[in-house]
Amino acid sequence: MPEGDVVRRTAHRLDQALAGRRLVRAELRWPSVAGIELAGRSVLGTIAYGKHLLTRIDDGRTLHTHLRMEGSWSIVRTGTREAAGRGPFVRVVLAAEPWTAIGDRLGMVDVLATRDEPRLLAHLGPDLLADDFVDDGLGRALRSLHRDPDRAVCDALLDQSVVAGIGTIFTAESLYAERLWPWVRSADVPDPRALLLTARRLMIGALEKPWRPGLSDQRGLPAVHGRARQPCRHCGTTISVRQSGPPARQRPIFYCPACQAQGPPARAETPP
Ligand SMILES: [Zn+2]
Repeated sequence: MPEGDVVRRTAHRLDQALAGRRLVRAELRWPSVAGIELAGRSVLGTIAYGKHLLTRIDDGRTLHTHLRMEGSWSIVRTGTREAAGRGPFVRVVLAAEPWTAIGDRLGMVDVLATRDEPRLLAHLGPDLLADDFVDDGLGRALRSLHRDPDRAVCDALLDQSVVAGIGTIFTAESLYAERLWPWVRSADVPDPRALLLTARRLMIGALEKPWRPGLSDQRGLPAVHGRARQPCRHCGTTISVRQSGPPARQRPIFYCPACQAQGPPARAETPP
């Protein structure tokens, strides 16, 4: 699932392609908003909040999209074959001159009044990548982290109501960077402030210089995510992966059992 860094980069690309431009064609291929017409209006801009994308229109409406698992936005030249957006999974086509934005496999499409954005985002914690996160969001995120002291810290980080924008990749990478057992109780994290700031630092790093999961770059990132059965670069121990979260919403968390051994061993993984 794309995380805050990818979503923010996507917002920037949408912004560059459409901000200040009039939509000559707009198709919302999503049942609940299929009849809504945006063509003829101009796009003010697109911002990211956590994993949500908000494309603001000049008539007081906002197009809200979410990439969920496999969604993406691509920018193509208006008038080309690609700009028709004929793919079976295309959910949104926003055409202006000279660019058309194609939203493929989006997990959510909605239109709301721009003034209602705060209500839409009310369930989310502070955006880890927001400019004012350190001054404004950090304290709130720390309080949320402590709200459920017995919860595993990896599950708390993945909870968008604690902090918005982080997913399995940066949860695993931040916990590894802080040498924390992913299933330590939230209340037992020695320095939760450092953990959140590390997550933010790693995500800003990826935002500025993207890396691809599974392909380690010169910074050694990712250190653990997607590296099961490969050696830890610090200690050589084989990287493990374990599912975390409630049954229907389990997600893989990668970790080094030696560098992050701060709790009981992951018994479920040990072969009989
Ligand atoms: Zn290690």
